[in-house]
Parts: sequence; C-alpha cells; structure tokens
Amino acid sequence: MAKIRHSDMYAFNRSRVLNIIRKESGISRVDIAKRIGLSVPSVSALVNSLVRDGLINEIGAGESQGGRRPIMLEFEADARLIIAIEIRQEYVRGMLCNLNAQPKDIRKVASSESTAIEKKLEAAANIVQELIDTVEDKEKIIGIGIAVTGVIDCKNRIIRYSAPLNCRNVHLDHFFGKFSMYPIHVNNISRCEALAEKWFGSGKDFSDFIFIYAGLGIGAGMITGGTLYSQSQYSAMEIGHNTVHADGEQCRCGMKGCLEAYSAFWSIKKQYAKAVGKDNISEEDVLKAIQVHDPLIKPIVDRALYYLGIEIANLTNIFNPEIVIVDGWIHALGSEALEYLTNLVKERALEGLTDQFSIILSKLTGKGVIIGAATTVLESFFQPLNKELFQV
Ligand SMILES: [Zn+2]
Repeated sequence: MAKIRHSDMYAFNRSRVLNIIRKESGISRVDIAKRIGLSVPSVSALVNSLVRDGLINEIGAGESQGGRRPIMLEFEADARLIIAIEIRQEYVRGMLCNLNAQPKDIRKVASSESTAIEKKLEAAANIVQELIDTVEDKEKIIGIGIAVTGVIDCKNRIIRYSAPLNCRNVHLDHFFGKFSMYPIHVNNISRCEALAEKWFGSGKDFSDFIFIYAGLGIGAGMITGGTLYSQSQYSAMEIGHNTVHADGEQCRCGMKGCLEAYSAFWSIKKQYAKAVGKDNISEEDVLKAIQVHDPLIKPIVDRALYYLGIEIANLTNIFNPEIVIVDGWIHALGSEALEYLTNLVKERALEGLTDQFSIILSKLTGKGVIIGAATTVLESFFQPLNKELFQV
C-alpha cells in the first residue's frame, strides 16, 4: 500500500470534518471529535482553518452538557461556486450554483437533432464564459462540470460516440480548453443524474442503487458503496442499447431490438404519430395522450413498460440493488406504472433478490442532470483524495 503523507492525512480529515458539518448543520466541535475519533484540539484546528476559508460559520452557542456551552457550526454553501453544463439533443443549458447545487443563474439555448455538435459546444462554451463574467470574485469558482449525452471518455474529455448528438470522437478540450484554469469534469448525463440522486435526491439514504433515465433516450448510472460505479473504460450502464428482443424493432443506434426501440420516448412518439396517421407529433401531445390513457397510445405504453420491467429484472439479477430510481416520461403515469414495474420485476427476477426491492420516482425531474453536472465537481471538492489509500 502507498505511504500516507502527513499532508494527505490533514486534507483527508479536513474533508471529513467539512462533510459532517455540511450534512449536519448545528453540530459542535466536541460532537465532531466523537464522531470521527479525533481529539477535540485536532478537530478545533481543522474547524478553525475551515472558518478562515469561509467554508463554515460559527452560529452561536448550543445547549451545555455540563461544561462550557459549545459553539455550533454551519456549512456556508455560498462560499464557493460551480458552473454546470448540460449538453443534449434538445438544448444546451448552463447553471451557476453554490455548494448545495442551488442555482444562482441559469442560461439555456435551444437546439435540435439537426444542430451540428460544434454549434452546440460553442453555445455551451459561450454560456460558461457568460456565467464566469457574472462572478465578481473568480477565485470562488471551484470547477466546471459538464454532462453530455453519449459514450464519454471522462478522463480525456472526449465524446466517443453519441447517437442523439450524431457525432464521434469529439474532443471537448477544443471548446472548453480556454477554461483550464478551473478543474473540468465531464460525464454522461445519466451517470451525472445518478450522482445527483445520491447527493440531493431519492437516493440520499441508499448506498447501492441504480438510476434509470427513460426519457427521449434511455441511460442509467449505478451507485455502489455510496459512489458512482466507474470501472469501465468509458460509460458503463448504457442499458438503452441492451437487446431485449433479438431481431426486434430498429433502434436509432443502427442495431435491432434495443430497449430504446421500445421504451424510449423517441420510439413512443414515433409509434404514436404512426397510430394517429401523422408524420410528426409534439412531445406535449404524446405526454397528454399518456396521461389521459388515449386508447391509441395504451398498447405502445404497455409494451414500453413491459420491456423496461424486463430490463430492470435483468439488472436486478446482475446487481441486486436496494432500489431503482426512475426518471423520464414515466412521470406522466405515476404510481400505477411503478406498481406494475415492481410486480413485473418481482415476477421475473430470481426469487430472494427482490424481498426488499422497490422502484421509486426521481424527485429531481427536469433538473437532475444539471445538478448532477455540478455534483461531479462537488465529489472532487469534498472527497479530494484517493479513496483506496484510506479505504473509506
Ligand atoms: Zn440501440
């Protein structure tokens, strides 16, 4: 095992103290010391350095437990800022937010299937510059998080392949390299949203779960042991292109029988347009048809849910998650769809794996990805060290 340096240990403990105060506002130095097994003077030194850096505030004295009344501590979320960017087929969106991912400013540029990737990335880079320009003290910005739809090489910041963005091997540094004074984190949109669910959403109290985004396309991210599963070379959990029907319907990726070809919103929309005899139909009209149980859309939605359930059952057999969180068009159906999916998974997954299993809806809908892009920066800020070194 690598040798742990004193400076690493100091940074590690400082990060632990900051994390506790972030999660439990109003805690005292003595309680933190008890919690993490350090001496009170050691914790005090760490707290004092965090107060000096503006990351925490002293908010007055709490209840005495026999001695002097302890000073309570509070996390100062506005002490630093993050720029989050979301790049997808329908739009490019940027957000300036604080350390609780609360927005300070949001900018959005509409795009479409036919917008060239270069135009989308130029729009995204312009938004980054605009958001930086709004910040008086630029040193408060701790990083830029970018969520992109597609297979992403996170380490080298390259879009390897994206069907929705219609591109291959696009180097994001060509567009965002001018902001290299800030750490830049890039990840796939569903993986970003999985992180957002862990930090701020329905997955807060769970260590092992799978997040599934069933929107225009379908993607997923897995949290295991409290952190994002990222053992793969690029993006893991590209479940939208898992085969659910050998030689089935044509998918937009070029293959046949993918989950997306049945359960993604682009497929539902295409099938419904055909059913009503139109070349195209608006997203609003499709969602409305789902909500009012239009008889023409019902068999399409039933089939979409069926294949989504089969996929979740397969994932359950492989990973046995505590919960599955879903987001996307399924919100239009609500609890009855969740009940159907849960029953189907219990029926199709191996007995014993689903005793404690449940499927829940995301509460971050519409903003999960952009919060997730910010969370990639938070992950690095709050857990700055190599976890393997410390086995945490
Ligand atoms: Zn496919």
